[in-house]
Amino acid sequence: MLNSGRTYLGVPVSRPKVGFFDFSSCEGCQLQMVNNESTLLDFLALVQIVNFREAMTGESDDYDIAFVEGSITRPDEVDRLQAIRSRAKVLVALGSCACFGGVNQLKNRFRDLPWVKETVYGGAAVETDVVRPLHDVVTVDLMIYGCPVRKEEVEKVVTNIAIGKEIAYPKYPVCMECKANENICLFDLGEACLGPVTRAGCGAWCPGSRAGCWGCRGPADDPNMEQMKRLMQERGISEEMILDRLECFGGFCEFSDALRAEMSKENP
Ligand code: SF4
Ligand code: SF4
Ligand code: SF4
Repeated sequence: MLNSGRTYLGVPVSRPKVGFFDFSSCEGCQLQMVNNESTLLDFLALVQIVNFREAMTGESDDYDIAFVEGSITRPDEVDRLQAIRSRAKVLVALGSCACFGGVNQLKNRFRDLPWVKETVYGGAAVETDVVRPLHDVVTVDLMIYGCPVRKEEVEKVVTNIAIGKEIAYPKYPVCMECKANENICLFDLGEACLGPVTRAGCGAWCPGSRAGCWGCRGPADDPNMEQMKRLMQERGISEEMILDRLECFGGFCEFSDALRAEMSKENP
């Protein structure tokens, strides 16, 4: 636990200094925190926010916990991330971009990076390289999954750090939460869903809105990919469509690469 001294219900707590930082991202995960009206005051009582470009003008390099959003795509981002790491006692990857590369890593799947640059930015000079998650560059202590993260989960993580409690994420898949919410299964409607293999914790956000899961929280523990593929194929969902989902956020890279290799062996 970080510097104790205060207590909450008899439990020693700290009031850690917290910084929020962004790299290549849409800043939606930080926005989740700023939009946190109902519990924002409680959250602010628990921490001292000393650096948060999206929400305040002041900034300090003296912080205990760094919440880092976004993926790394440029050399100057590497230097900045390493500097943040050197100052923080705890570095938390905030959201799918930071944990897996997120939607940004789709760029890595194009073999012709100059063509991608030209198509997206025209003739403008843009320095951009292969997309990397934070843990490719520095040691990451904790990951908070999701695109975007759930603000309740961020608060829980901060509270647990403050009171020195272990942080545990669900190991089971989104289907468990979806069933508990009594949603109609999208497979029964002939639609694709990665719920059977994706880490729970979002409360089955997408299936609750009648949209299949795209796997933004990455794989659940020991996911049964073969069974998921079989379930999809039995409903007429093609391997290309399965790959579209698996590749979207970067958490399933290992599995999508294997599936793509298998497909190219079958159809060289
Ligand atoms: S994880 Fe999603 S919401 Fe968060 S910064 Fe990346 S793209 Fe935006
Ligand atoms: S809709 Fe998706 S998450 Fe929900 S039960 Fe069906 S497969 Fe699982
Ligand atoms: S249902 Fe899937 S894609 Fe939607 S928020 Fe949850 S994990 Fe992410």
